[in-house]
Amino acid sequence: MTMSIAATHAKGKFAIDKIFGAAAAANQAAAQFGKDKVVNATIGAILDDKEALVCLPTVEKVYRNLPINEVANYAPIAGLPEFLEAATALTFGDNRPDAYTGAIATSGGTGAIHHTIWNYSEIGDTILTSDWYWGPYKVLCEESLRKIDTFTLFDENQNFNSKAFESKVNDILTKQNNLVTIINAPAHNPTGYSLSDSEWDNVLDIVKTVAKDQSKRIVILADIAYIDYAGEKNECRTFMKKFGNLPDNVLIILAYSMSKSYTMYGQRTGAMIGVSKSKEVIKEFADINQYTSRATWSNINRGCMRLLANIYNDKSTLAQVEKERSEYYALIRERSGIFMNEAKAANLSMLPYIAGFFLTIPAKDPDAVCDKLHDDHIFAVPLGKGIRIAVCAVPSAKITGMAAKVAQAMAAV
Ligand code: PLP
Repeated sequence: MTMSIAATHAKGKFAIDKIFGAAAAANQAAAQFGKDKVVNATIGAILDDKEALVCLPTVEKVYRNLPINEVANYAPIAGLPEFLEAATALTFGDNRPDAYTGAIATSGGTGAIHHTIWNYSEIGDTILTSDWYWGPYKVLCEESLRKIDTFTLFDENQNFNSKAFESKVNDILTKQNNLVTIINAPAHNPTGYSLSDSEWDNVLDIVKTVAKDQSKRIVILADIAYIDYAGEKNECRTFMKKFGNLPDNVLIILAYSMSKSYTMYGQRTGAMIGVSKSKEVIKEFADINQYTSRATWSNINRGCMRLLANIYNDKSTLAQVEKERSEYYALIRERSGIFMNEAKAANLSMLPYIAGFFLTIPAKDPDAVCDKLHDDHIFAVPLGKGIRIAVCAVPSAKITGMAAKVAQAMAAV
């Protein structure tokens, strides 16, 4: 037996990250065959047409102009007030719900997910998300000694499966009083799906119905990591208006992230934004989550928080950042458009992509298909039931022809 001195709950923890594994294989192939011969569709960050990491130029300029004290110093545990104000305003745009809101700075969207799981479910509880989901949700649940369960995301018409959601919500609430459910929209990772407003209505109706039982407490965690690449700013935020006037045993938490929106992935800055009819629930939200921050990472990156505040507080700077971002949004649309058109021509069925960094092709044996694609020097991420293609990272010239090759690989395995 191998020696272990880890505590019982920590024994055997080992994260096999398929995404980093696939990325490493792509890098190896690039070193062997040359970068121009390799299609690396594994990276969850925007790369330009020369495959260089994009940092929005105005974001870089504002960041480099920060006084060193603003980069070096500590920040308040809850976050710089000006940052929290900016993050809240930028999250809602013109669709601020009629409710109390509160915000706490977090270590990216990941930090917001962590705190939500820890503070709004009991140890041993089950957290609910869709069957297509971002892998770290499971790690985040299990690290906090919770379980994860899923509902089928799509119905037979490739729309949001409200019935499946409802049935899992009901099922879980017969066993526990707190339910945290994570909905990653718009521009879902890995499919690129966005719930329509009427699908959000269905979600909220289901939650309102179960909330009639006052012993139940329901938290919807809206993971909006990709919202700034989901379409026109206010159009893709209309669902947020619906978060006003929900029962006071329902709390909405939005996981806001600067990673994609400001191309500041490594700076680890985001916020959790709570929305409730109840002032007390929001006071509690601020208190307990600030406490958990103190107990995990202490305070958040001051420079990056100041960066957002400075961008937000200067209208022309904000407009410039939005303009630059919209150019990359258009680039991602061009790439996904090519893939979708070619997929149609090749009879390759895809999950419904609306927007975002990734698209997904369902497959019976994703690992075998991805391995087969290596023959063509194409690298994608095998998921449990499909293949994820990072359109954010692959230039249009390399996207061209890719769908047909995926179709061939699917036929060959
Ligand atoms: N949620 C989803 C679905 C993601 O894909 C990511 C990043 O890849 C995040 C949240 C969180 O990112 P971060 O912690 O960098 O804000």
